[in-house]
Amino acid sequence: MLSFIRIIYEFFLDLLFPPFCLGCGHLGNYLCSKCYASIYFYPFPPNLNLEPNYLDKLIVLSHYDSPLKELIIAYKYRKGKILAKTLSDLVWQSVIIKPTSLVTFIPLHPQKEKLRGFNQTKLLAENLAEKLEIKCQNTLIKTKHHLAQAATTSRAERLTNVVNTFTLDPKFAEFVKTKPPPSSVLIVDDVITTGSTLNEAARILKSIGVKNVYGFALAHD
Ligand SMILES: [Zn+2]
Repeated sequence: MLSFIRIIYEFFLDLLFPPFCLGCGHLGNYLCSKCYASIYFYPFPPNLNLEPNYLDKLIVLSHYDSPLKELIIAYKYRKGKILAKTLSDLVWQSVIIKPTSLVTFIPLHPQKEKLRGFNQTKLLAENLAEKLEIKCQNTLIKTKHHLAQAATTSRAERLTNVVNTFTLDPKFAEFVKTKPPPSSVLIVDDVITTGSTLNEAARILKSIGVKNVYGFALAHD
């Protein structure tokens, strides 16, 4: 019965506030078929020259460009829960992600998450994990604020900026004390620049014995 009420509620909500394409404003969907067709999906991940590289594989959808850019900005700052589904459907239709033992995500600093009300990478990871039929779990926590990658000046600065920004999530740390660590983990992020954040997260997961760590990001800027 509850789901029936929900369907009716969503039907009226759609009537009152019909979704429109964030790329061109066309009514009907948050991403219309024309704008979807305009996205250039990377055939290969960008070459990030990470040294050392802890990521066994990296999947990045596309460049951080319109209309994906508008979709990601709206997702992060306005329509988190609604657009998580649109974005995970977009990912699901566009790239092949092989199942891993566990799906995890880049954590936000707790203060930032409180301010935003949600963690966008967590929501996306949960949606993707559901499609992959894999468990999604917190594995890391953010211990210090680092400068926004764009605010740092040199590439060297950007690469060292993230070292020691994460530590193992206490619950996950307890879990791996008594059980073997998952053999493979997929880490979900939203927008990457140098890839050093994903690489640092991969370094920590490998240090506790995870054999294969894969990275996923929506876009590369
Ligand atoms: Zn459009």
